[in-house]
Amino acid sequence: MKKTVIVTGSSKGIGAATAILFAQNGWNVVINYNESYESANLLCRSLVSNGYSVITQKANVANKLEVDIMVKETLYKFGSIDVLVNNAGVAYQGLITDTDEIDFDSIIDIDLKGVFNCCKAVTPVMVNQKSGCIINISSMWGQVGASCEVAYSAAKAGVIGLTKALAKELAPSGITVNCIAPGLIETGMNSNLTIEELNDFVEGIPLGRMGSADEVAAAVRFLSSPAAEYITGQVLGINGGFVV
Ligand code: NAP
Repeated sequence: MKKTVIVTGSSKGIGAATAILFAQNGWNVVINYNESYESANLLCRSLVSNGYSVITQKANVANKLEVDIMVKETLYKFGSIDVLVNNAGVAYQGLITDTDEIDFDSIIDIDLKGVFNCCKAVTPVMVNQKSGCIINISSMWGQVGASCEVAYSAAKAGVIGLTKALAKELAPSGITVNCIAPGLIETGMNSNLTIEELNDFVEGIPLGRMGSADEVAAAVRFLSSPAAEYITGQVLGINGGFVV
């Protein structure tokens, strides 16, 4: 039977690359989006026209009800959920003195509570199956902290803590929970950086370049493959050696 993956925030960037890779490997894929209806459906149509099994599902991951509906729709359409990739996220840069409570709450709601909502919604399904795999996309800033990114760093550090705790909780049910901590990856998330800022950043990366969304997607695939079934509760850095 075909396996099923939900990739949150897969209308673009790392999520889209991940959705494409799973589809090309014969999986049923749920492309989740919140605002980017056009990009999500364009991607879905192009994959379906190539014979792949893909649907889109709108859900704001910060909204428990919408997440629960996404999980129900996935089960209705495909019958199982084998892998959940918690990729949806937003960045926020600013001095702490310029970060309002509302900004902080919004980042925590999407980047951390969104992961909690999705994990909570799929857990009964995976426990019932006695198998499953959850991969959370954190950030190297969750490992070491970024200046002027207090809310984002806190949320991404929270994702690492959530991953470790949930890995221990779900291991007896045959479910693995791991985390990927990307470094500087070439996606729209970094489009606010100037060429000079990007060059300065890249100069500090030992491998001397940005990473690609495809490289993160390949790591997600690995962590969800049989080769990784004894790996749980881990944080895999994909950062060109920036954080070692
Ligand atoms: P991106 O190109 O900006 O894509 C972000 C994705 O998240 C979009 O598909 C967006 O969908 C979705 N999203 C945002 N808020 C959402 C919400 N409330 N509910 C559902 N989906 C939502 O960014 P990216 O670089 O691919 O980032 C993907 C993940 O990698 C994020 O968690 C990010 O923090 C992490 N990361 C990225 C980098 C990097 O350098 N790019 C580094 C470290 C970690 P809509 O447009 O449809 O809302």
